[in-house]
Amino acid sequence: MPPTPAQLKDGFKNALLKFFTKSLPSIFLSLSLFVGGIALLAIRIPGWSLILGLPAVQIGLVFLIFTFDDIARNKVGPQSLHMIPCSVCGKPTLTPNWEQEKICMKCQQIIAEKSHSKKT
Ligand SMILES: [Zn+2]
Repeated sequence: MPPTPAQLKDGFKNALLKFFTKSLPSIFLSLSLFVGGIALLAIRIPGWSLILGLPAVQIGLVFLIFTFDDIARNKVGPQSLHMIPCSVCGKPTLTPNWEQEKICMKCQQIIAEKSHSKKT
C-alpha cells in the first residue's frame, strides 16, 4: 500500500519545516562566513585582512561541507522498514512500510533463472 496523500503531504511539510529551521540558517551562516572572509581578504586592511579573512574562509568552507553533507544524509536517510513474509517461500523479508507484498531475493533469483531457462 503506497503512502496516502495526507501522509505524503505531512512528510513534505515536515521536510520543508526542517529545511527552513535547520538547513537554511546553517547554509546562510556558512555562506556569509565564506563570502565575508573573501570580502575581508579583498578589501586588504593591512594585517587584519589576513588574520580575520583566512580563518573565516576556512571555517565557512568547513561549515558548508558539513551542511551539505547533513542535507544529503537527510535525503537518503533510513526509511521505515518492516518485516513481511515472502509471497513465495514465506521467509521474513525486510521491505519499506508501504509495500505489503514482497518476494525475497532468493525467490526472485529462482524465478529469474526459471524464466531464463524456459526461453532457451
Ligand atoms: Zn522467498
